[in-house]
Amino acid sequence: MSTATPKPRWSLAIHGGAGSMRRGALTPEQEAGAEAGLHAALDAGAAVLEAGGSAVEAVQAAVQVLEDDPHFNAGRGSVFTWEGGHTLDAAIMDGANRAAGAVAGSTTTRHPVALARAVMENSRHVLLAGEGADQFAREQQLEQVDNVWFGTEERRRQLDSMKGDTARGGFDVDMKYGTVGAVAMDAQGHVAAATSTGGLTGKRWGRVGDSPLIGAGTYADDRACAVSATGSGEFFIREGVAHEICARMRLRGETARQAAEVVMADVKAMGGVGGVILAAPSGELDWCFTTPGMYRGSASADGGKRVAIYDDVRI
Ligand code: ASP
Repeated sequence: MSTATPKPRWSLAIHGGAGSMRRGALTPEQEAGAEAGLHAALDAGAAVLEAGGSAVEAVQAAVQVLEDDPHFNAGRGSVFTWEGGHTLDAAIMDGANRAAGAVAGSTTTRHPVALARAVMENSRHVLLAGEGADQFAREQQLEQVDNVWFGTEERRRQLDSMKGDTARGGFDVDMKYGTVGAVAMDAQGHVAAATSTGGLTGKRWGRVGDSPLIGAGTYADDRACAVSATGSGEFFIREGVAHEICARMRLRGETARQAAEVVMADVKAMGGVGGVILAAPSGELDWCFTTPGMYRGSASADGGKRVAIYDDVRI
């Protein structure tokens, strides 16, 4: 993505997870399916922004499309926990006032990002976890589904393969995780970020990743930018990736790309991999990732729409 001048009326970037997607490793069907999902998500977010909607509404709309798409590890298509269920994490943040909402370990809400938004707007809290998050979702009358609805055969196969290989632990880039996220700048110049994930295959003991942790996997601040991350969550938590990028921009005057490159290099030095997408109040979009590929896409009022998977394609 390149800097658009003059400032576009709105801009939007999405990701569908970072992983080992090398050219030739995905089947044409997998590639086409993921690209179609990314296009549909961009269309949903772009429609909101084109109609004058807020960045918060746009990132929610884009993420909900990806949550419904089984190609991605969020909502339907989420990875399995060790016990064979699904516990979903999501967050959303408004850069205009730094309002934020998040859920960890929700189990029955079709669109976890909608639940995160309800936490932000209709509760006094920022992060709800487990049973309480499910209860709040019902009270908010958000669409509920049976936990098995989130599963797919491919994700079950990944769990079985992981259980058969005890040497493999933590983040396995070969499993093409597919966490989803969106960042946007709206016509008022406000930014927002949202992230949604099923977490890591075979996760145990109520493990929570970076995605729902404000400042780690998700952050938005009109004074800096909006960030949504994907990757080995434990490292992103320890780095405080999303807030660290915003802090560097704010306090050191770095561009979003400069800040993201330094922070992702630091994550890599600790042993983590993954990526981030970025939307600045200037309308500038960018991304940075340290895996072979990252499902991603961008759209802006005057810049058209593009999606990409591999690292040798610029968007
Ligand atoms: N960051 C996510 C987590 O750790 C996983 C991912 O992005 O693929 O839960």
